[in-house]
Order: sequence, then C-alpha cells, then structure tokens
Amino acid sequence: MPTNFGPEHVRAIAPYQSGKPIAEVAREFGLDEAAIVKLASNENPFGVPESAKLAMLAAAADIGRYPDANGFELKAALAARYAVPADWITLGNGSNDILEIAAHAFVQQGQAIVYAQYSFAVYALATQGVGARAIVVPAKDYGHDLAAMAAAIDADTRLVFIANPNNPTGTFIPAAQIEAFLKQVPAHVVVVLDEAYNEFLAPEQQYESTAWVKQYPNLMVSRTFSKAYGLAGLRVGFAIAQAPLTELMNRIRQPFNVNSMAQAAAIAALGDADFLAQGARNNAAGYLQFTQAFDALGLEYVPSYGNFVLVKVGDDDGAGARVNLALLKQGVIVRPVGNYGLPQWLRISIGLPRENAILIAALTKALA
Ligand SMILES: *Cc1c(COP(=O)(O)O)cnc(C)c1O
Repeated sequence: MPTNFGPEHVRAIAPYQSGKPIAEVAREFGLDEAAIVKLASNENPFGVPESAKLAMLAAAADIGRYPDANGFELKAALAARYAVPADWITLGNGSNDILEIAAHAFVQQGQAIVYAQYSFAVYALATQGVGARAIVVPAKDYGHDLAAMAAAIDADTRLVFIANPNNPTGTFIPAAQIEAFLKQVPAHVVVVLDEAYNEFLAPEQQYESTAWVKQYPNLMVSRTFSKAYGLAGLRVGFAIAQAPLTELMNRIRQPFNVNSMAQAAAIAALGDADFLAQGARNNAAGYLQFTQAFDALGLEYVPSYGNFVLVKVGDDDGAGARVNLALLKQGVIVRPVGNYGLPQWLRISIGLPRENAILIAALTKALA
C-alpha cells in the first residue's frame, strides 16, 4: 500500500492554475514567441515602468546583501501615500503572500473562512493550507452577495475574504455596501478586503478603504504592484491594517519575503503617476474595444471593473476549453476558468489596442 505523506487537508489541495507562459505555448504549438499575444494573467500591457527599471538597476549593485527585512523605505512611501502609520503595513511577496500569511496568522485548523463563489482561487488555497473549513457563499450576478456572506459567518469563522473588484468575474461592490457589511461583522472576525484592481476604478467608484482601516480594527486592505504598476514578475504586495493585526502578520511572514530589487522598484512605481494614468486610459479604451466586439458577436459578458473581461463563449460545458484551444493555435493566450466552475466562459485580460484587435479576430475565427 502506498504511503500517504502529509495531512489530509494538504493532499486535498488542487494546485493553482496559472496563465500559460508564452515560451510554453510557442513550444507546444510550434509558434514564433514574438507573434504570441498573452492576455491571460491580468498583467500590465505596457510592461515595467521605466522608473522601476532604473531603480532596479541601481539596486542590483547591492544584491549581495540581504534585503531590508522591515522594508523601511517602501513602507515609509506607502505610509505617506495612504496616510497611515508605517507599522500598519505588511509587505508581501505579491499580495498572494499577504492572503496566505493572513490565513496562517488568524485562523487555525478546524476554524472557518468565508468567501464567495467565483472569487479569487487563492482564497480556497489559503483556506485549505491551514486546514480550515471553507464557507463558500453562492454568488449573486457573478459577484459577492454581502448580505448572504454576513449571514454565513458562524461561530467558527475567523476570516472573510472579499475581492473588490473580483477576479475572475470583474464585479464591483460599491463602498456603501462594504461599509454596511463591516458594521455587521463580529469584532473578532478579520475581513481581508483584496483590492488588486483598485487602481483601475473610475474616480466616481473610488472609495477610501484605507481610511476605513482607522475605524475598523478587524479590517485589512490588501493591494498589489502586480497589475496596474506592472511589476508582476517581481512579486510585491502589501496590506494595511491596525497594529495588532499587522504584528501578528509579522510573526508569520518570512523575514526577507520581499527582495531588494522589488522594494526599490515598488518605491519608484508608486511615484510614477504618469504610468498609472497611461494604464488607466488604455484600460478604459480596451474595455470598450472588447465589449463592442463581444456585443457584435452576440456574446454575453460580465461588466468588468478590472483590467480583464469574463466572456461566455458557448452554452455547453466544453465551450471554454474548446475556444481556448482554438485561440492557442492562433497564438493567443487567454484564461479558461473551468476550475472556477465557469466552463462556458473565458477571462481575457485587456491588452494594447493591437493585441486586443488580434484577440478579437482570433475569437471571431474560433467561433465561426
Ligand atoms: C492578481 C490578484 C492578486 C495577487 O496578485 P499578486 O501578484 O500575488 O500580488 C490578488 N488578488 C486578486 C483578486 C488578484 O486577481
């Protein structure tokens, strides 16, 4: 009989499925790497900001030394930007790290974590990783049903994950609803508000979640440099919460979880307002480009507040995989979301106008 290594809750984990790398698709389908368009991982189509490249070059000279374990300068920059004390900030190796650390810091085996159906896959992984029980609340119109989530909090619950905007559906919860939810949540239950796409929100949708942190000692806001800031490969994210939660996060996190180049690049990117503005403009235009094409093709999509769109490519449960394969053969990488329980849909990241046009042509052909 084979030996079963590890605890049962670890063996039950289905590993995260990432977007296919360009080199892998080129090898598999015999394509030229340069001709491949990747719209699969909600990355910034402009790549790395020049300001961050320069900061990384400078930091490279000192890479023989360990990074600053406390991320003093990056935390100081973030503290100034968000008007919070530096000791309310936790840095993460991507915000993925923040989500994992939060699960380890606030939840023990047998306790429960609440999150929404069709919300970010890492919530399930973080829950399973600590052997907690997942309370998955059915989505409403592909988004979070906060009233149902509040009602689902039971005596064992210690953590709630909320993604706003949500990935992979792109849905958005207005500020008033989140505040009403925060008022209902018991004081000992931590709410992690994951705002990976915050920078793409139009001015009229923006709200001051970092200001709520002052009011709610059980609230943690999570942000990332991977999407709007164009630093996905470097892995930098951060959380803002009052000192008691932040101190617990600090006990769990690896001492050197954010490397020197990443810290330097994040400081530069944080100050690069032009790069953010350029990304926001491109995203708004690309969203129109996509949705007009989907309308013309008669495809249903979920209105998105992020830098991607969830679009329904057929009525049968093979549709997502089939159309995905047809796109791959044409050198276009998108994200099938069958693992999210959405086998008829694809999630497509908004790229540069030229890349979006290639996707639209390839999708039109794949559906013909
Ligand atoms: C992309 C994403 C993240 C994490 O990205 P990192 O690269 O780990 O910072 C977190 N939450 C959501 C909802 C995301 O889509």
